[in-house]
Amino acid sequence: MTDAAIKSGSNDDAGTALAGRCACGSVRYRMKTAPMFVHCCHCLDCQRQTGGAFVLNALIETDRIEVSEGAPVRGDVPTDSGRPHGIYRCPSCGVAGWSEYGGVAALRFVRIGTLERPSALTPDVHIYTRSKQPWIVLPPGVPAFEGYYDSSKLWPPASLDRRRALFG
Ligand SMILES: [Zn+2]
Ligand SMILES: [Zn+2]
Repeated sequence: MTDAAIKSGSNDDAGTALAGRCACGSVRYRMKTAPMFVHCCHCLDCQRQTGGAFVLNALIETDRIEVSEGAPVRGDVPTDSGRPHGIYRCPSCGVAGWSEYGGVAALRFVRIGTLERPSALTPDVHIYTRSKQPWIVLPPGVPAFEGYYDSSKLWPPASLDRRRALFG
């Protein structure tokens, strides 16, 4: 999931690696620990919302995101399922920092491309590969699914514990 410095959780190195900001710098944040899991989502919604070929999301507890500057503003986007999806953006430049899915306020999907060092986190899983761009070649050794997946079978035990603490 992460390099050794981040896995250790709370040292200075990890803090630097997991700091991020918007394009104009009005919003700055830090993930206080490594995320629970990292998605690379190839669905068409993510492609449209990012204007890219996929999105990279770090799944982390909302209370482990420390916003040091600025106040991201939520905007809701339509979804096929009808379940809410709120995207939190810098009010000045509009760059998205993270999402909230399904009304689960305690969980955030942080956009890894906004990190100061985006290479600090790599995908643990590729999802919705049925709509991935045909020129993308997935790396061997990383699980990939045509649609969504069963987190109980894929997440490491420590991350599942954190997830249980969120959802009870
Ligand atoms: Zn900004
Ligand atoms: Zn997606």
